[in-house]
Amino acid sequence: GKVLVSGTNGYVAVWVVRKLLESGFSVRGTVRSADKGQHLTELFKSYGDKFELIVVPDIAAEGAFDEAVKGVDAIAHTASPFHFNAHDPAELSVPAIQGTVGILESARKYGQSVKRVVITGSTASIIRPKTEQLDEFDWNEPAVKAVEERGSEATNAEKYQSSKTLAERAAWKFLDDHIKELGWDLAVMNPPFVLGPPIHELSSSPAAAALNTSTKVMLDVMTIPDAAARLNNGNFVDVRDLGDAHVRAFKSELPAYVPMDAVNKEEGKNVNRFIIGGFNFTWQDWLDALPPTSKAQKGTPGSGTRKLDYSNAKAKKVLGLGAEGHAYIPFVQTARDTLADFEK
Ligand code: NDP
Repeated sequence: GKVLVSGTNGYVAVWVVRKLLESGFSVRGTVRSADKGQHLTELFKSYGDKFELIVVPDIAAEGAFDEAVKGVDAIAHTASPFHFNAHDPAELSVPAIQGTVGILESARKYGQSVKRVVITGSTASIIRPKTEQLDEFDWNEPAVKAVEERGSEATNAEKYQSSKTLAERAAWKFLDDHIKELGWDLAVMNPPFVLGPPIHELSSSPAAAALNTSTKVMLDVMTIPDAAARLNNGNFVDVRDLGDAHVRAFKSELPAYVPMDAVNKEEGKNVNRFIIGGFNFTWQDWLDALPPTSKAQKGTPGSGTRKLDYSNAKAKKVLGLGAEGHAYIPFVQTARDTLADFEK
């Protein structure tokens, strides 16, 4: 089958594309401009006409994906801004929400052959203050409220989290509103911080500030004294596992959709939203994992405090991630592979 992947030049998306191609799928990728596709054409040239690109200049524009969805069997929507330097929350929320609803609307109208849509969500839409493990029942209401109340005075994290929460909510609402007319179902992958070797185009970035958020943080921790101590901790999944998760989401049998009303009564039980990975780490763990001979910062070995793991039992049960025959890439491997890649 052929999968449409939006935002193909992004850090996560290139891995999604690679894993799809390796699994035998064909891919049609969207990029904002033709020049952003050159690296990809080179990277995937061995796949011949199984990889093609289409330019979608503005994902928030009405009907942006109308042409792109024609003739594909499935859609992976990954394009969404991920950074912490928006002043106006709309810089994030408009492309996040309209991009999501827009691609679903295009699929509804012109995606006659589409069987499934998989959206790259985030634990940003799940995270909330809680003393136990977070799971798929949780929604990040606090960030939405913070942005509603404080607008551009909300924190940068709140603005990003709110954009992802509202976008995911809008996707499930779209399904509710149109379920009877759709020939496809929906799954949302909710990864925490995504780490691991980048294979997207980095070279055109004029400065580290132009790097995507994950790559910049990994680089900062390894090169800036005290960055590990300052950033302290997080929850992660390896970018290669997240790519696999998307492939599995296309191949797995998903439980039948139950409308939001019923879902809300059961606190999200039947929605096909999945936490992917979610293992706790400290950034000092990252430095401690690197070979002593590396030029990376050393930090203060063994320091830092931990968060809780997320529950990823649902992805284990339905997608087989972390179940028999699949092992998540451990943090030490992610750190070492990333360093090896950066050194190259
Ligand atoms: P990148 O910044 O590397 O990629 C983002 C992609 O989205 C790029 O293709 C980018 O295009 C596109 N995009 C961003 N804003 C717009 C816009 N306004 N209009 C059109 N296209 C846009 O980030 P990631 O790969 O890390 O993120 C991909 C997805 O994964 C996002 O949905 C993000 O929320 C999610 N995610 C990422 C996590 C992480 O730790 N990396 C964690 C959890 C979720 P362009 O290059 O042209 O700007």
